[in-house]
Amino acid sequence: MTSQALLDDGWELVVGLEVHVELQTNTKMWCGCSTVFGDEPNTNVCEVCTGQPGALPVANEQAVRDAILLGLALQGRIAERCRFHRKNYFYPDLAKNYQISQYDTPLVTDGELVVEVTGDDGGVERRRVGIERLHMEEDTGKSLHVGDTGRLHGADRSLIDYNRCGIPLLEVVSHPDIRDPETAQAYLRELQAVVVATGVSDARMEEGSIRCDANVSVRRVGEELGTRTEIKNLNSVRSLGRAVRYEAQRQLAVIQDGGVIRMETRHWDESRGVTEVLRVKESVTDYRYFPDPDLVEVLSPPQRVEEIARRLPELPAATRARLTGLGVPREQAAVLVANAAVPVFDEAVAAGAEATAAANWLAGDVVGQLAAEDLSLAASGLTGAHLAELTRLIDDGTLSNTLAKEALAGVIASRGASSPAAVAAERGLEQVSDVGELQRIVDDVVAANPDTVAAIRSGNDKAIGALVGQVMKATKGQADPRKTNELLRTAIHG
Ligand SMILES: [Zn+2]
Repeated sequence: MTSQALLDDGWELVVGLEVHVELQTNTKMWCGCSTVFGDEPNTNVCEVCTGQPGALPVANEQAVRDAILLGLALQGRIAERCRFHRKNYFYPDLAKNYQISQYDTPLVTDGELVVEVTGDDGGVERRRVGIERLHMEEDTGKSLHVGDTGRLHGADRSLIDYNRCGIPLLEVVSHPDIRDPETAQAYLRELQAVVVATGVSDARMEEGSIRCDANVSVRRVGEELGTRTEIKNLNSVRSLGRAVRYEAQRQLAVIQDGGVIRMETRHWDESRGVTEVLRVKESVTDYRYFPDPDLVEVLSPPQRVEEIARRLPELPAATRARLTGLGVPREQAAVLVANAAVPVFDEAVAAGAEATAAANWLAGDVVGQLAAEDLSLAASGLTGAHLAELTRLIDDGTLSNTLAKEALAGVIASRGASSPAAVAAERGLEQVSDVGELQRIVDDVVAANPDTVAAIRSGNDKAIGALVGQVMKATKGQADPRKTNELLRTAIHG
């Protein structure tokens, strides 16, 4: 087990995760302000989200529906009635001096997520992580620290952007069921995939629409839970794994040194690979939670929940199982799910593409190219019909694999305006399979390389590669490699 390599024998790691998901509603949680990412600072604000005296919040119905949908996708129980509380604390980017959140009556309880990790024998192991609760709250604004460091420490001045203030957030709190960094990472990845599948958020970690805090402790196996520390704002799956690993080893070293772990909030420094104390952890009583008198209870009667349940899509685990059933390798199925590429895959298969070929192109070239251009599949304009056409052009010998990659790049460059066949025609990408023309080029190459030809004739078969290369060069890569090989062999061996 990896966790044994992580800690000394007899010790185990205990991790629970709190994941914040920004909902992709058009308007904020308590007002009609826009939620668009990247607008000019402080342009999407009003008296409600900047906490002006007397301004009254009204709950966003779409946000409640989305929260219920995600709760159902996580197998949770939806509370028939729940309410909002005020969580009191001062923070410059929280203008009201309290955050509206949920306290003793969260919207969702008792969920779970089953994640897949690679076991010691290389096989797939499934692990269940319980979800304690899922509650609704609002996001804070953003502080921008101006200066050399980019952090509060060492800044010349700080600016505040309230555009994010009041954007609906869901906090998904897991039970401390996680025992190793790999499972923590798999949980975060799977939760992200479920969020994408339900469509309640774009789940982009780099834009902060999913953020993760990790509660970490260590204990002797079989003993009670140790004191935990909370690591804030881990902004990638990789950071989560590294931070948990570091923190577990730090805590064990402190304990074995005779020290005591304090309950505290720590910051993960990605560049130095260490966690540092941010503040000694507040206890829940410090927040003076009380019901928000400005907001009514949220009622979710069974018929309303059932109606939302009908919107539940196929969930990632089921999608992966369906794809592997079609012959798609497990890793590729996971890549397609994680990149929200399954609808395009399904469309390609419906349009006649082989499932394995469609998956191979999508999980390989397409995902790679989109990542390089920082483009989403939807924005690329690539459709399943394009993909089916591409595989057809390969199958009938019009395009080699190399030319097909170029045609695919052309489709994406045109944002889907040109089909693979159109790109191939525009750029003259079709393979030269006109035998007469190819024969002339082959004859020229054979005549120009007597030494290589002699070597091949005397048994150095590999040398033919050099001649194939020359034919390719002469045809700008458009010769059909199979045909070229055949013609060269006939020309050389007779
Ligand atoms: Zn507002």
